Amino acid sequence: MTKTKLRTGDISKKPAALPTQPQQTQYQQTQSQQTQPQQESATLRCALAVTLNKLFDYLPPPHLPPPHTNLSTLTPGIRLELPFGTRTLIGYLVEVISPTNRKTDESFELKAAVRIIDAQPLWDSPLLHCLQWSSRYYHHSLGDVLAAAIPKKLRLGEAIASHTPGFRATETGHSLLLETFKKNQSKQRDALSLFREHPDGLSTQVLKGLGVTSATLKNLTQKALIAPFSLPKFAAKPIASNTSLTPTSTPTSTPSSILKEAPLSLNEEQQNALTVIRDHLQTFKCFLLDGITGSGKTEVYLQLIQALKPEQQTLVLVPEITLAPQTVKRFTQRFNVPIALYHSGLTETQKLESWTQAKLGHAKILIGTRSAVFLPFAQLGLIIIDEEHDPSFKQQDRFAYSARDVGVYRAQQLNATIVLGSATPSLESLYNCQQGRYQQLTLRQRAGTSQPPKIRLIDIRSQALQHGLSQTVIDKIKATLADNKQAMVFLNRRGYAPLMMCHQCGHNFPCPNCDANFTVHKKKQLLKCHHCLFTQPLPTQCPKCDSTKLDYIGHGTERIEADIQSLFPDTQTVRIDRDMVRTQALLKQQLSLLESGQPLILIGTQMVSKGHHFPNVTFVCIVDADTGLFSIDFRASERLAQMTLQVAGRAGRAEHPGEVWLQTRQPSHPTLTTLLSQGYAAFAQTLLEERQLTQLPPYQHLALLRSESQRPALAQELLTFCVQSAQQLMQQDNSLSSVSALGPVAAPMEKRAGHSRYQLLLQAEHRPQLHKLLDRLIPLLENHSLARKVRWRLDVDPIELY
Ligand code: ADP
Ligand code: ZN
Ligand code: ZN
Repeated sequence: MTKTKLRTGDISKKPAALPTQPQQTQYQQTQSQQTQPQQESATLRCALAVTLNKLFDYLPPPHLPPPHTNLSTLTPGIRLELPFGTRTLIGYLVEVISPTNRKTDESFELKAAVRIIDAQPLWDSPLLHCLQWSSRYYHHSLGDVLAAAIPKKLRLGEAIASHTPGFRATETGHSLLLETFKKNQSKQRDALSLFREHPDGLSTQVLKGLGVTSATLKNLTQKALIAPFSLPKFAAKPIASNTSLTPTSTPTSTPSSILKEAPLSLNEEQQNALTVIRDHLQTFKCFLLDGITGSGKTEVYLQLIQALKPEQQTLVLVPEITLAPQTVKRFTQRFNVPIALYHSGLTETQKLESWTQAKLGHAKILIGTRSAVFLPFAQLGLIIIDEEHDPSFKQQDRFAYSARDVGVYRAQQLNATIVLGSATPSLESLYNCQQGRYQQLTLRQRAGTSQPPKIRLIDIRSQALQHGLSQTVIDKIKATLADNKQAMVFLNRRGYAPLMMCHQCGHNFPCPNCDANFTVHKKKQLLKCHHCLFTQPLPTQCPKCDSTKLDYIGHGTERIEADIQSLFPDTQTVRIDRDMVRTQALLKQQLSLLESGQPLILIGTQMVSKGHHFPNVTFVCIVDADTGLFSIDFRASERLAQMTLQVAGRAGRAEHPGEVWLQTRQPSHPTLTTLLSQGYAAFAQTLLEERQLTQLPPYQHLALLRSESQRPALAQELLTFCVQSAQQLMQQDNSLSSVSALGPVAAPMEKRAGHSRYQLLLQAEHRPQLHKLLDRLIPLLENHSLARKVRWRLDVDPIELY
């Protein structure tokens, strides 16, 4: 949440300037001994990780560290320590301004940087430009954007280690006849020949990526054939990806040594997609690989990577890595090249290592979540965004970027190919295909032998439900278990029950901080607000009327699990939701039960819909398909359809056909009937037509300004100022005619965590007009006195309007 206060500093009440107008940048001088005497010196224009959207000017430090011989060797993208108020912050050099280009009266008041941290910039010039573009496009402080783009250790000023541990062949190692290795020492022989191909040495990390074990390294070291060695990181040449252990240690029938295993032979649709994309490698083009779940999109990605030049790298973005260990495994199983991961489940040391490996070009494939889109690469040749429709690619708070959209920008900048893959593409991407901006390639068949599951509706209006499940579903689960298969029950609501109510007086236990009711968590004996996380012990008595008759209304996964256990007392249940699976170890444990293949019932939220491959699940019940049908969110039906098909896609992924049943009280609702009778493509087309008629994205472009405060009037007043200013700007400038402002209105959940929330929606048919308005409006907002008292933030291309 953007606060008007500086996030990491405490001075400067100066007007903000946009990074697009750096000439207006001023740095408010406080009395300081660090002020340098006037001398003809360049100015360092720097970004700081503060929410104030402006750049700050400094003088160079008195002494430049090596290898910087003079100011011209200072490159944008290096980090510096900068005095800021009473503190020292890490800043990023954006521009060096020569004395002739500076207004003479300015340098007089500038402070000097304390220290230069880096010898080399963190980002090369295209990536720095991409980050600057992101800052402008999302109207977010450049310093904050730059800080978000690097691992925490670099944000805190840690030096990029100039050396990395490794090994190289000794003289003996170079001269030894390879035939002297015995038959059972092939691993040592292969490793040694690898070292001979790389006389400069190989880092431990790279060796690990190439499958050389520490036991092999120990054996070779003991025989004095190799020796430990500290490799200079930035001087090290990227490892060509045809580097590999020789085929004897990795038996494979494939011609190329980058492969550990042979690729599958593609079906016609896959082959067609591969050929088209491969023909466009080395040029910018965005493809939408629109393939049903199980159609073999991943196999297409793998074979595309294989078609890159040896030195080129691939970035693979996935919505959730911790939930998709199988995807990572498929990449590591296929390739003989170093693969690095980048996601929030890693330690800070691991993140820095991956970042460095990507930058140096040592890691050939980087698999990561959202923030990996900002990783530096030596030679990025291909970007793959799997499950491109997934909302987790859009950051919701602070710097509200879309990794998918930034990915497209990066690919364009680098003349690289980008592939967006999904079984249920976003309407935005489908629209971009219709406009000719992206090229759509479809896979309509499941790869291999598996068949797409049949999806059916059950009208539960006429059925008595047992614990939220219809008799048909219960019978189906029984039959599935009897057939030695696994059943899955999907409900996207965690907790025991979404509502607790007094039977006597109807009191419904609202959260004191939010316009929302508590969710019951029975196992933990808690009432918990899912919006502000406030909890209180589960009451046994109504606070209003003292009645002890309290009812639980509705079902969450915890309740469904308990109910299923009472219906199937002899069957193992596995629950996967955020309450149950708090750690990776717990997830592994749950997944291993599923992998065992034993008959069981899986109960899960949307956590299970992402990327998992459950070969033995043949029956899926979606407990409640109705909640998404009547939402005020215009994206609700799109989400419902995506979720339904993704969940359904978990069924019957192996040779056993799958069945999916949706419980509904709205069996003739057009969303459900179109989706099930005509499929996602027709459904999406209907939605697109609706969006065009109702003037909504992707036909219109949105920006949402949110404000919140414990004092509602202030939050409203700030947005009223914004809408008035916007209207004035629009009146003054005809070129803003397609923009309109709606609001301010209370947010759909007005009170949340004790704050009253309001929002103002800006909408335009032409994107450049919207941004032109924002370029002018946001500085006015930032300069408003209330902007420091009220929390506010801007979300460009919002996907949640709450
Ligand atoms: P998607 O990513 O589209 O959901 P996957 O790539 O995971 O699909 O493929 C689903 C399954 O089909 C996997 O088990 C994969 O190994 C298998 N598969 C993919 N392509 C082929 C093929 N050409 N021949 C045989 N099996 C294939
Ligand atoms: Zn009561
Ligand atoms: Zn709350």
